[in-house]
Parts: sequence; C-alpha cells; structure tokens
Amino acid sequence: MSVAHILRAELELVTAGAVTAPESLTIGSVLRPDLPLARDGWGDPYLPATSLAGSLRRQAGLTGRAEALFGNVRPGDGTDAPESETVAIASPVRFLGTRLELPQPPETRHRTATDRHRAAAQPKTLHSRELMPPGTKILLWLRLDTPYPDAPLLDELVDLLATWHPVIGRGRTTGHGQTILTRVLKRTIDLDSADGLRHWLLNGGPELVDEHAAIVYDHEKDTVPNPLTELFGQPMQFSVADALHIGNGAFLDRPGRRTGVFTVLRDHDDLPIVPGTTWKGVLRSRCEFILRSVGLDACSSVGENTGPCSTCALCTTFGWTENSGTPRNTPPDDETTKSTGARGLLVFADTVIRDGTRRIRNHVALDRIFGGAAKGALYSHETVEGGTVTVSIRHDREKPIPDLARAALLLALDDLATGRLGIGAGTTRGQGTL
Ligand SMILES: [Zn+2]
Repeated sequence: MSVAHILRAELELVTAGAVTAPESLTIGSVLRPDLPLARDGWGDPYLPATSLAGSLRRQAGLTGRAEALFGNVRPGDGTDAPESETVAIASPVRFLGTRLELPQPPETRHRTATDRHRAAAQPKTLHSRELMPPGTKILLWLRLDTPYPDAPLLDELVDLLATWHPVIGRGRTTGHGQTILTRVLKRTIDLDSADGLRHWLLNGGPELVDEHAAIVYDHEKDTVPNPLTELFGQPMQFSVADALHIGNGAFLDRPGRRTGVFTVLRDHDDLPIVPGTTWKGVLRSRCEFILRSVGLDACSSVGENTGPCSTCALCTTFGWTENSGTPRNTPPDDETTKSTGARGLLVFADTVIRDGTRRIRNHVALDRIFGGAAKGALYSHETVEGGTVTVSIRHDREKPIPDLARAALLLALDDLATGRLGIGAGTTRGQGTL
C-alpha cells in the first residue's frame, strides 16, 4: 500500500479572464459571444485541468524538473532506451479536476482592429469575448502517491506551486487571466492506517481534502516576487484633457427619453475603464507609424492587403497571429512561415479612469438641404470628462524588450501626452485627448 497526498491549490483571478470554448464557436450568431466561455455539461463556466497542467509543467521546465514531476514522451537518449525507440514516462502528479466560484456572472467584451491607413475600425474584425470577473476562485485538486508519508517529490511540488503565477486563457498581453495563488492545502491519506483507509473509502472527490488538511502555502506569508515588471519603472499617469468615450457596444434605453445612450465600458466595480486592448492597439499602431515614418523596418499589421510580418521588432514585442487583420500578401509556403503566431512580450492592463465626471453628450446630424436637425439622427454618448488614467505596461523581467520597440513606445507615449494621439471614440472632434 502507499500514501496518497491530495493537494488543493486555490487560485484567484486578479483580472478578468477565461478559457474560451472553440468547440462552441458560434460564427454569425448575434445572440452569443464569438468566443464563449468553456462550459461543462450543466452550463456552468469550466476551466479544463489540462490548461493548468500545461502551465505548471512549463514552470517546472524552467528548473529542468518537468519530466520528473509531470512525465514525458520523448525519443530514447541511449541510456534508458535506444535512440530509435520512444520512451513514455507517466506523470507522478495527477491533475484531478477544477472547480470555479464566480462572484458575479460572466461579462462580454467587444473589440475590433484599427485600419492603419484609414485610422478607423477595420471591417469584419469586431468580435466579442466572454470573461469571468476578477475575484473568481479557481480550485485545483492534485494527487501524488508516494511509498512513505514524507516524500521529497511532494515538497518539490509544493515549492513549485509557490512560485507559480498561471495566466488563464487567451489575452494575457492585454492583461486578461492574471491569477494569484492564495493557498495550498494538503491532505495526506496513509492507506496502511485504518483511519486513512476509512477516509479514503468513505469520501470521494473534493471531500477528500477535509478539515484535517494542512495549509502548506499561504499567500499572506509569501515573498516570491511577481515575474512581471513595469517597462518604464512605474505606471504612467495621464490626465484627460477633454472627454473619453470607450464603449463596449452597450446601449442603454432611457425610459421617457427620445433616445437611449451608448454607455462607456465599466469594470466589475462599475468604474469606467480604458481596457488593455485599447492601450495595446493604439500604441502599437502609433509605433508602427513612427518607425515607418523614419524609414525603419516595421510592418503595417492591420489593413487592406497587409498583415503582420512576424519578423520586425514590433511583431516580436506586441505579438502577431496569422489571421489578425486581413490575410497576408504572401501565402505561407516554406517551412519557416508555418507558425500561426507568437505571443507578445508586453502586458497592457485595464486601467480605471479616476475622478472623472460622467456626462451624456447628445449628437445629431444636420440636414444638408434645410440646415436643421435631420430627423431620426439624434443619438447620445456617455462620456467621462476630466479625471486621470494610468498606463501600465509590464513585461517579464527575464525577457528583455528590443531597444527599437522601447524607443518607439516612448515616442508614442509622448504623442499621447502632447495630444497628437487620442484614445477611444471621436478623437477628431474634441474627445480622447490626454
Ligand atoms: Zn511586423
């Protein structure tokens, strides 16, 4: 007989995030988001344990212990098997499953791409994504069997968990899916003892980790630094010179009024925000413009007949995918262009607009013949006037940012600060200046 150790790792989402369900893609549907949450058979949001297994395995790979903890399938290296044979090693650590606890229902975010030449939204790139709110608890159960109650492999696993900062799902470079590990509980079940055997046989599933479990990791007492660091030392603060409108396509009907209002995007605390996707998109497009203007190598990643080149400094820094924007000029034919994308190095977070005043601005079109207001053209936007926003651009301290990209980013931020570049809607009519 042996000893079974059941670990319960408790993670918490710091920013909104989710694993999307490609199997339930609803292309062309107006009722459901383009990228819905992965859900289980009961319709509840679900996080596949494989997603976390991959992340933890990668963390173990940094210290060369991936195979010892999580198994492997590889060609023989001559010592354990001939090189012509495949060696398969089972993972000693088992990922039993996950459970999610959502404080609020999931939200839907919309985003689009900006055409680099027309400086307006690119057709056919609007898409929506469902996200779980920050504060969502992710419980992960792990099992490790050892011959004796004390096991070095178990201690190694706990130490590994303590250094782990998993990111859930897609969109990590726009600040989505960041998590912190809050606690790890360990329940050791000695199957040679009557107590252990009784607990093992009478309980199952999550109940195996009961009140006899020991806390082996507590975030409150943690000293492991976050691997992400601010690119320019600290977040940059801007004040809003006029008014900002960054919407989510949400339209609110106002009873008794002639028109509804297009509301601004809010976070889960109902505060207006500038999403990480906006910062990333605006700054990338400006960096491309700056580098191209001075004759340096930079692609035009979105627009008619263009696409990311995958080789310039900005593609390295901001990431690229084969299908962002319109298809590329040259079809991928040789081996080197088979890759479908690469993740960017920078992480742009959602930032709250603080101390601003929310105001409704009404707009109407003029009738070109009679000079009065055109019928049926009245519409209203909610805007945030004044206030301050912070731009947080972070990167992994292990992965340096190319100098060219850093310089372009600094110039692009200067353009934001001097008002040459705006964010959100209506930048050509007195909105979006910082
Ligand atoms: Zn490029």
